[in-house]
Amino acid sequence: MPDGPMVGILGGGQLGRMLADAAKTLGVRTKVLDPDEHASAGRVTTHILGAYTSPKALAALAEGCDVVTYEFENVPVEAAERIAETLPVHPTPEALRVAQDRLNERKLFGELGIASPTSVAVDAEHRIESALSRVGEPALLKARRLGYDGKGQFLISGAHDIADAWRAIAGAPAILDAFVGFERELSVIGVRASNGNCRFYPLAQNVHRGGILRVTTAPAPNVPEALREQAESAARAIMERLDYVGVLAVEFFQIGSDGDARLVANEIAPRVHNTGHWTIEGAPASQFENHIRAVLGMDLGDTTPAKPSAMVNAIGELPEASRVSAVPGAVLHDYEKAPRPGRKVGHVTITADTPKELHERLERYTRVVG
Ligand code: AMP
Repeated sequence: MPDGPMVGILGGGQLGRMLADAAKTLGVRTKVLDPDEHASAGRVTTHILGAYTSPKALAALAEGCDVVTYEFENVPVEAAERIAETLPVHPTPEALRVAQDRLNERKLFGELGIASPTSVAVDAEHRIESALSRVGEPALLKARRLGYDGKGQFLISGAHDIADAWRAIAGAPAILDAFVGFERELSVIGVRASNGNCRFYPLAQNVHRGGILRVTTAPAPNVPEALREQAESAARAIMERLDYVGVLAVEFFQIGSDGDARLVANEIAPRVHNTGHWTIEGAPASQFENHIRAVLGMDLGDTTPAKPSAMVNAIGELPEASRVSAVPGAVLHDYEKAPRPGRKVGHVTITADTPKELHERLERYTRVVG
């Protein structure tokens, strides 16, 4: 039997691991490049141990691949560009360039008419005060690069916080974001095929604690049709502008409720996303499967939700498996990562037949597991 196609993945964390697992179900082989010898994806697929900046490691990843993708947005753009000289890289390295810099993201939103929080670029401490007077108090100072899970940001409630904020982000180029008093956080996951077809999973509702995603509920309850349209048209416009192939996540804040509800976009992730993990159990084709399908030029799978789902991140350490299995509809995903405070080491998806049953199961999960 001929070997199936091969996808190379820059990054070997849990996202790479779940991509590799989904690829297997399609008869697709994978390999990952990751500088960490304990990379989670290395447990399930071929792992090339090396730096993203090493031409030798990049060549070893590319060898025998039909296409290369990435699962981590802080991969150096140059690594993706180098591979793109000889192989298709999806999504385009340009998407990485945009997503790596909050200022570029906000500029893209502006160009496409996508609403986002009022923000001002700041590159020196003495400029923060005037920026604060433009965006208003309170405001969030966010490093432009290498921020994730609320890292590299500081809440400024008045001029007296400026010095601490500047120190907290280590004097890096930043944006100052107006603090949005949102009703809730929502995200949309879209996928664009190489022929331009787009599909979307339903909006998911996300609860963060300490800047880290804790719980996603999908479909998000009570989403007016206008919000769904707003989210999908924003994601579609971004994907079209970037000539994008693969899965894209866009995170939003919902301001106002019911008829007054509207979305402002916070950021994009040019990859499979934590707020889409529920799709493994909750949708006919998961975000991981659809990403592999898209980058290989295959038809996209069905994104219609099969069941109301919730995803709870395991942060720091895994819950006890016997407690998880005491909750009906709960499935534990173990990334086989060493426990460490603040680290995502696994997640649990809970599905149910109705939103009410899902709510009861989530409550039970919180009681039993914590
Ligand atoms: P981020 O690193 O931009 O994803 O931010 C992490 C979390 O901080 C978000 O999920 C929000 O809960 C919160 N956050 C970020 N930006 C803002 C903002 N402009 N206003 C209010 N909350 C924010």
